[in-house]
This record gives sequence, structure tokens and C-alpha cells, in this order.
Amino acid sequence: MSWTPSETRYDTMKYNRCGKSGLKLPAISLGLWHNFGDDTPRERKIAICQTAFDKGITHFDLANNYGPPPGSAELAFGTILKREFAGLRDELIVSSKAGYGMWEGPYGEWGSRKNLIASCDQSLKRLGLDYVDIFYSHRFDPDTPLEETMMALDHIVRSGRALYVGISSYNSQRTREAYAILKELKTPFVIHQPSYSMINRWVEDDGLLDTLEALGLGSIVFSPLAQGMLTSKYLKGIPEDSRAAQGKSLQQAFLKEETIAHIRSLNAIAERRGQTLAQMALAWVLRKGRVTTALIGASRPEQVEDCVAALDNPDFTDAELAEIDSYALDANINIWAKSAER
Ligand code: NAP
Repeated sequence: MSWTPSETRYDTMKYNRCGKSGLKLPAISLGLWHNFGDDTPRERKIAICQTAFDKGITHFDLANNYGPPPGSAELAFGTILKREFAGLRDELIVSSKAGYGMWEGPYGEWGSRKNLIASCDQSLKRLGLDYVDIFYSHRFDPDTPLEETMMALDHIVRSGRALYVGISSYNSQRTREAYAILKELKTPFVIHQPSYSMINRWVEDDGLLDTLEALGLGSIVFSPLAQGMLTSKYLKGIPEDSRAAQGKSLQQAFLKEETIAHIRSLNAIAERRGQTLAQMALAWVLRKGRVTTALIGASRPEQVEDCVAALDNPDFTDAELAEIDSYALDANINIWAKSAER
């Protein structure tokens, strides 16, 4: 079916400057980690992307391994770019990453120059693009000199494969080291992608948000809904069509009674504020302008609409923030913690 993007798509979305760079990103971005593999009907993937774009979401985040199977999300999005989004390339910010296991053998993961450049080429092919807007080192590699990983990112930009680079899940200290190398190389390093939500606050404890502010870098925080836990969906059990039921990355063991009790209390605060818990969770990570964009996932278009409406009620009183703090406790759900430990 032919589709014309909404003429009002830029009317309500907020676009935040990414650190001190010239790049602006929508306050809400869409990630294609889940729901864009071969296990999801193509029509649903198209509807999610079209709804997002119609709501002003210009940024779509991918990685080499998103699927299942790995690579299929990039293939699916590549087809959408070619068909439904034809002619829209310059209105979009498309990102990809390399670092987690993608192909067999010693070159299929981590942070070597070999892995990053080969993986970037594979991603461009799957996406059908000449360049991505942002290319990331997906995780810190303790066995490869950081200079090598950063010089590979630099090469990826200089060879025209990407416009900007970023790093993901690096801790504060590693971020400072990466920044120093990339600054010397004059590489356009503009963004960090860490996990962050009301029940996963490691970026506060690690000082990463302070570091990013001090260095003038932007931030795109992933899993701001804690993979769906920070919505009302798990308050009365595990719905059949949920991520937790599918036994994917959201382990049912995360849904402890104590955590659910805290989420119930957060849900009550959201209701009082006249918004859904998902909306409050997104407004919360974006509070006080410390984060550039909240990177959500969605299994259906209605979820995208619900999430974008978070921007209708973004402000908190000090009393609300204090009350949220008493329930927004670490739930030990950060499955990416290892990548930040080194
Ligand atoms: P999330 O937004 O925390 O969780 C998304 C899930 O929450 C959806 O699949 C859906 O669950 C549920 N949901 C979303 N909106 C909802 C709403 N309004 N009401 C009720 N439920 C709602 O984010 P995520 O999918 O875990 O991650 C987002 C993106 O971050 C990924 O796609 C990827 O781009 C990026 N990411 C990066 C890394 C990294 O290492 N850099 C790691 C993980 C993710 P159901 O499917 O159950 O409906």
C-alpha cells in the first residue's frame, strides 16, 4: 500500500542537540533490537516505522546482530528504506554497531580494526546504504588496545562509511580514554549509548552522565522502559504476547515480587500525573535535559504513539522526584553490566 508521511510530523516532536555537536536527535528514538527479525510479520515492522516517522522520530537505531537471525533487522530496515521510506534518507539518522558476536571465528566480535570495518561493510550492504549516520563500538574490548578500536572508528568516518561515531556501554573512565584518543584524531565522536531506566541507574553511580556533560557528548539511553517492565503490562502477571513470555532477553526471574511492588507504586504516581507508566519512565530519563534521547523498542505501533505522548507532560516537581526515588531502586536487571566493568 502506498504511504505518504504525515505533513505534521515535525510539529510536536522535540529535537535535542547531541552534546555540543551540530546533530539534533528526537527526544524519543526507535531501536530495532527486537521485533524486526524474521519472527515478526513485515507489515508490522512497516507500521511501527511509519508510525514512528509520522510522530517525528527521525532516528532508527540498529546493530549488526539484531534479529533473529543476526543481520535480519538490518535487512528488514534496508527494505523499508528502499520501499516505504524511499526519498527520505536525508530526513533520517540511521545507526549501526559492531562488537558483539556476529560471525564465526576470531574476527566476528569485539573491538579489532578487522571486526569493526568488516562488520560496518556488512551492515551497509544489508541496509542498502552508502553510509550510516552514526557507527558505534558496541562494547569495550579489554583485549584490544583502545587506540586500535578508536582508530577503526576514525577510519570508518574518513572512508565515508559513517558521519559520526559513538560508543556503547563503556564506563566513565573508558569513555574519558576513548574521548582523549578521538579528540586528538579530530573524529566526530558525539554520542554514548548506555542502558538507563528508573530501575537501572548505573550511569548515575558510575558518574557517566556527569562525564558526558563535562566532555560535551550526547547520550542516547537504551531500554528506558526496562524492556517493558516499566509499563503496566506485568502488574497482573505475564501476558502471552510480551517479551518476558517469549523467553527473550527479558528474563522472568527479573519480575520479582519486590520489584513488581515498586513498579506498582511508580504506576500509581504516573496515574496521579495523568500519564501511563511508560510515559513517566521516559519523561524521567529525559528530566532536566541531561539525556539527549530515550531509545525505545516497540512490538506494535500503538506503543510508539503511547511513548511519544510522554513529551506532553515532561516536567516533575521536586516532591514527585523524591517520591519516585523511593521506589526507583536498582532491580539488578542490567545484563550489559559486564561491558562497563572493565
Ligand atoms: P524498552 O523501550 O525498554 O523496551 C521495549 C519494550 O517495552 C517493547 O518491546 C514492549 O514490550 C514494551 N513497550 C514499549 N512501549 C510500550 C508501551 N507504550 N506500553 C507498554 N509496553 C511498551 O527498550 P528495548 O527494546 O529494551 O531497547 C530499545 C533499543 O535500545 C533497542 O531496540 C536497541 O536499539 C537499543 N539497545 C542497545 C543495546 C546496546 O548494547 N547498545 C542493548 C539493548 C538495546 P513487548 O515486546 O513485551 O510488547
